[in-house]
Amino acid sequence: MESIWSKTCEIGKKEALKGDIQADTVVIGGGMAGLLTAYELERSGIRTVVLEAGRIGGGQTKNTTAKITSQHGLYCRTFIEKKGKDTAEKYVQANQAAIKEYKKVICDEKIDCDLTEADAYVYSQDAEKIESEAAAARELGINASVEKQIEIPVSCAGAVKFPDQALFHPLKFMRALSEKLTVYEGSRVTEVEENLVRTACGSVRADKIVFATHFPFVNFPGMYFARMHQERSYVLALENAGTLEGMYIGDGKDSLSFRQYGKYVLLGGRGHRTGESEGGGKYEGGSYEGLREAARRLYPGSREAACWSAQDCITADQVPFIGRYAQDRPDWLVATGFQKWGMTSSMVSAMILRDIICKKENDHAEVFSPSRFSSEELPQIVKDSGKAVKGLTKRFFHIPDESLEQLRPGHGGVVETESGKAGVYKEEDGQIYQVDIVCPHLGCELVWNPDEKTWDCPCHGSRFDYEGNLLEGPAQEGICYE
Ligand SMILES: Cc1cc2nc3c(=O)[nH]c(=O)nc-3n(C[C@H](O)[C@H](O)[C@H](O)COP(=O)(O)OP(=O)(O)OC[C@H]3O[C@@H](n4cnc5c(N)ncnc54)[C@H](O)[C@@H]3O)c2cc1C
Repeated sequence: MESIWSKTCEIGKKEALKGDIQADTVVIGGGMAGLLTAYELERSGIRTVVLEAGRIGGGQTKNTTAKITSQHGLYCRTFIEKKGKDTAEKYVQANQAAIKEYKKVICDEKIDCDLTEADAYVYSQDAEKIESEAAAARELGINASVEKQIEIPVSCAGAVKFPDQALFHPLKFMRALSEKLTVYEGSRVTEVEENLVRTACGSVRADKIVFATHFPFVNFPGMYFARMHQERSYVLALENAGTLEGMYIGDGKDSLSFRQYGKYVLLGGRGHRTGESEGGGKYEGGSYEGLREAARRLYPGSREAACWSAQDCITADQVPFIGRYAQDRPDWLVATGFQKWGMTSSMVSAMILRDIICKKENDHAEVFSPSRFSSEELPQIVKDSGKAVKGLTKRFFHIPDESLEQLRPGHGGVVETESGKAGVYKEEDGQIYQVDIVCPHLGCELVWNPDEKTWDCPCHGSRFDYEGNLLEGPAQEGICYE
């Protein structure tokens, strides 16, 4: 399940860190947020090193849909009502500034990344909501309008249009950016101690440390695990589905996302909280099948050229956490909680973190500050604390033969044994893979995801393949038996 971006762009491999080095700033994580932060810092004269556990862009960024827009759903009216006009305005301005900065960087560095200017639309069945959102967006300084007719084949009362947004190829952009930076790949950070960052084969001592790891993996201080959850969604690249000028997203739970890349329409959707896969439930065959059903309905003559999925961190108040990691760690900074709008949010992060490190005023920083407290966070904390199970030590259980016989080939699930629960997957050829279903991050019980044949954490969104290898954090180790 390779994205269209991975299929069409190879990034040359970089060496791993070997030995102990020093830098002004070390950025942990070579995704969009990490590379942009490193780039903005280097441009300001700050010597920066990036440590990436795997490959550049190999986290969520390779599976994005890469719309560069400040239109993050229908949020302007809600933000004005809940946070006040000043905060809402700063949120919008920060994202508009991010779009401008992308265009500037791409132009200054002459980056060939298929940048296309395009308008962004949110469509809805609710005509009043659309009118109200467009008016709110205009109050916040966006030249927004209501469009009654849109080019995608969905039924709706209309759409709010934000003009002059952009689309690009995220990996082509990152490939060019990485050539200007010091990046070590295959260098997972295993420990962070004040101003020292350690990997298996070396360390970096730096004045400032930026956590751009998608989900911050140091639990205390910060407690980001209690302030965010993760949501997955799915994408199909469709051939023979026509051509779109704009980018689109629907309002509401079952909304779909549309954009063009080359000859493909990228159709996204069927999102759910990680660990709550729809497989075997609403859609026969799971979330991918749900999306395929939509593709057949909307684009009857189309052909699927690729499919993939990704997940993102969701905060309770819909605003990312960008700024100081925690009160008692003045040299640690963080960029996370992008709400599936990580292209502009990564650039907003890069600009805010650059200004904090360079001791410059930034008008937008306060809105994104992780030290803000929102009462909307409390129900989430209570909900997740119930999902933790005891004991983080790996346990191997003897699985009764009859349980294994009942499991169909190609399927996985939780099996009860005399001494506890175990996770089992049966290959098509009958081979059995057993894992411990206690998440090594904070001890939540993992659930089987039939869509992707993975073990997913319903609390914080860590994921593991059926052999137990780590796919996505915040966990930093797998669940296989040595
Ligand atoms: C289906 C889908 C579609 C989306 N489409 C859009 C869109 O159209 N527009 C938009 O704005 N946003 C979109 N998003 C959101 C966007 O893709 C993400 O927010 C963004 O890619 C996150 O970038 P990142 O750098 O924070 O994380 P990542 O790309 O995941 O980078 C984090 C990196 O940190 C590394 N890492 C982790 N732990 C360590 C460690 N201990 N040591 C060293 N390295 C480590 C990982 O290997 C990884 O490479 C979408 C999200 C989804 C789920």
